[in-house]
Amino acid sequence: MCVAAFGMVTERVEGRAVVSFKGALKEVSTALLPNVKIGDTVVVHAGFATEIVKNPHKIYRDVVATDAYARQLLDGIEKENKRLRERELKIMNFCGTHENTIVQYGLRELLPANIQLISGPGCPVCVTPEEEIALGIELANRKNIILTTYGDLLRVPTRWGTLAQLKQEGKDVRIVYDISQSLELAKNTDSEVVHMAVGFETTAPGTASVIQQAGSLENYSILSSHRITPPAMEEVLLHSNMDILLCPGHVAMVTGTAPFDLLVKKYRIPCVISGFEPVDILHAILQALYHYDRHDSTAINQYQRVVKDKGNGIAQNLIQSTFTLTDANWRGVGFLPQSRLVLKHEFSQFDAEIKYNLKLAGKEKDLMQTCLCGEVLKGMKPQLCPNFGHNCTPATPTGPCMVTQEGACSIAYMNLGVY
Ligand code: SF4
Repeated sequence: MCVAAFGMVTERVEGRAVVSFKGALKEVSTALLPNVKIGDTVVVHAGFATEIVKNPHKIYRDVVATDAYARQLLDGIEKENKRLRERELKIMNFCGTHENTIVQYGLRELLPANIQLISGPGCPVCVTPEEEIALGIELANRKNIILTTYGDLLRVPTRWGTLAQLKQEGKDVRIVYDISQSLELAKNTDSEVVHMAVGFETTAPGTASVIQQAGSLENYSILSSHRITPPAMEEVLLHSNMDILLCPGHVAMVTGTAPFDLLVKKYRIPCVISGFEPVDILHAILQALYHYDRHDSTAINQYQRVVKDKGNGIAQNLIQSTFTLTDANWRGVGFLPQSRLVLKHEFSQFDAEIKYNLKLAGKEKDLMQTCLCGEVLKGMKPQLCPNFGHNCTPATPTGPCMVTQEGACSIAYMNLGVY
């Protein structure tokens, strides 16, 4: 659900735009990008156009050019690696979408053997703890409640079952493409509508925008499992002995580069904000190696065609004016201070936890003991889990990392041909 798509604006309507994704037309919100024009190429995330892409032709370059450029970058990496005397280097690619590109294009195999690319915890569905999903399960079991959420969350196993099972049993659980659909639903029904909101800084502005539009609607609320990424990145830096971080480009598109500059200053390691094409990632690795022992104090922005230094101010203001931060459990990572976005007091009428007096279950009885997602989120290879490809596949997932296309287990399975 953290996957962003590139498309061209073909039509403007009030507050919305029609975007062509290689010919498939889809209407999206322009609340985060009010000045977008017909002809602009935009990044769309969870139904919201979030940034205009500079030089979009770079994204759609032909294969030959890509291969030539990739070779040049690999030669550069080889040269920098020699300069660094082929020392052992651990590079964490935080984001699930990076992992997808790395596995799909075999980038690990293309790099020198001493450079390890390690998958990180940047999959929002994977890090949502089961006790938060359980709140949605509890509400879906109540009468007169319609529960909406993104598709991935439905199949995440918990000790209380899955939302997909409840849907099969006839409970009113609906998949939405973007959160605006849940608000529209609430305006046109007498039932209570609760939306389970999951995602990082990329998805949170859309939720904030909808909450600010909800006005005096009394039958609408959200369960917020939104997380911000810096606390998880800091946790990685404190406990995983990483030498270099590849930072999530689409998070930086919203936040700007400042949160990553702070990490560089504090931990003195190169952080490169990277795009998602294979050559983006190779370029980011080359930049990271170049800067490895040069002790820069700012994050390197490889993804300049999308990420501005200051990010998207509208999106940031929406987050700041709607949410506040609280401590939270991250599946597989643990409790991280000030890492979950919950609604501010002035929006408490839309907070389903308050409205329905919900309490998070304790996490001491985790029945997911056979799933090693927690270790996978910290960098373990999915293939080392005994369940991988046996009793855990994308069709029959045992844990969240096998559910979503940003989950490392699902990515490994889908690309290694384990059938
Ligand atoms: S393979 Fe399945 S059981 Fe093993 S860690 Fe991944 S999701 Fe969990």
